[in-house]
Amino acid sequence: MAARLCVFCRRHPVQPAWQPFCSERCKLQDLARWADGTYRVAAEPIDDADGDVDVDVDDDKNLKI
Ligand SMILES: [Zn+2]
Repeated sequence: MAARLCVFCRRHPVQPAWQPFCSERCKLQDLARWADGTYRVAAEPIDDADGDVDVDVDDDKNLKI
């Protein structure tokens, strides 16, 4: 079986204790990027539209209940 590469740095093999990362450091850095919003900004440039959808879904649920 070929070793998978860390999903964060994509340079080091994944360690079972930290999968899908190669180390605690990469895992923490990945979490930090999520908390920072770096991934969202990169993946979803239109942040306003996403917020509107969330609000609409919430309103719909409230009406049904
Ligand atoms: Zn890594």
